[in-house]
Amino acid sequence: MRILITGGAGFVGSHLSERLLDQGHDVIAVDNYFTGSKRNIEHLLTNPRFELMRHDVTFPLYVEVDAIYNLASPASPVHYQHDPVQTTKTNVMGAINMLGLAKRLRVPILQASTSEVYGDPEVHPQPEDYWGKVNPIGPRACYDEAKRVAETLFFDYHRQHGLDIRVARIFNTYGPRMAADDGRVVSNFIVQALRGEPLTIYGDGSQTRSFCYVDDLVSGLIALMENTSNEPGPVNLGNPGEFTMLELASLVLEMTGSSSTIEHRDLPADDPKQRQPNIDKAKKVLRWEPSVPLRDGLEKTINYFRSQLV
Ligand code: NAD
Ligand code: UDP
Repeated sequence: MRILITGGAGFVGSHLSERLLDQGHDVIAVDNYFTGSKRNIEHLLTNPRFELMRHDVTFPLYVEVDAIYNLASPASPVHYQHDPVQTTKTNVMGAINMLGLAKRLRVPILQASTSEVYGDPEVHPQPEDYWGKVNPIGPRACYDEAKRVAETLFFDYHRQHGLDIRVARIFNTYGPRMAADDGRVVSNFIVQALRGEPLTIYGDGSQTRSFCYVDDLVSGLIALMENTSNEPGPVNLGNPGEFTMLELASLVLEMTGSSSTIEHRDLPADDPKQRQPNIDKAKKVLRWEPSVPLRDGLEKTINYFRSQLV
């Protein structure tokens, strides 16, 4: 198959491109390099089945493909709040443009949605039928609400035009090729530990997140796209192992052997207090569950950042 990946030069997009090429597919990666980098897919450029296009998904795109993974969007709070209007445009207009493309071609399209649609959740762990608690006018809204509208658009194209859609709600994912400066907690702590700088914990560090290694996520995305049971989703994809930020910091300090100290900073507005996916649906429908424990994934990620920082 010839597969289009928007956001293909990003962290997740580069791993997905690699895996789909390994499976024998042709891949067209589209990216405007807002947060991604050509370096992420440099090693794929010599593969004749890989094609890279500079393109902004807020503009229409005309290509011929057999399936679409829509990943284009800044993903870390620092990046998506840097230009909030552009974040909303990318997610909403990008979704409309890619859904229009899928409709013209009559091909399946997968949306990279997010656990952020649950906002600061009152239900724990979060199942797909929980509607969420999102502040529509706060600093995270440009991302959370835009991703929610994108889900609405996907389901309306499905109901109104019979489009074959797949919506994945991705929980915090980490691994090699995260941008060192994107402000996400895993990359921040590792880079700070390796540089001997203090680890910055926002608030008292009791807030929780559940971290999924990127290889597991990629398997889940492909399982959802290839699923033949007409399941549009949404399906949570994440690792249910839940950790406080204090626990994560001490694990990173132990594994890097760093003597960095810990420094507390103000908790950002609307920072969710807890997050853990309920993955019963993914287990049942996709026969998917993550297999990489946090320690193993962190080891690979630490090795990656070590090689980048020397
Ligand atoms: P990333 O920032 O590394 O990748 C996003 C890519 O999209 C980048 O290469 C960026 O340049 C590109 N992009 C941004 N705006 C664009 C535009 N207008 N046109 C074309 N390309 C554009 O982030 P990631 O972690 O790889 O996330 C990929 C997708 O998965 C995103 O949609 C994100 O919302 C979603 N997601 C990721 C996580 C996670 O923990 N990594 C969690 C939930 C959801
Ligand atoms: N966080 C932190 N120190 C950092 C970066 C983030 O304590 O240097 C916290 C942040 O406040 C949040 C959690 O780590 O509670 C996860 O943040 P991230 O930006 O990785 O993702 P998200 O908030 O989108 O889940």
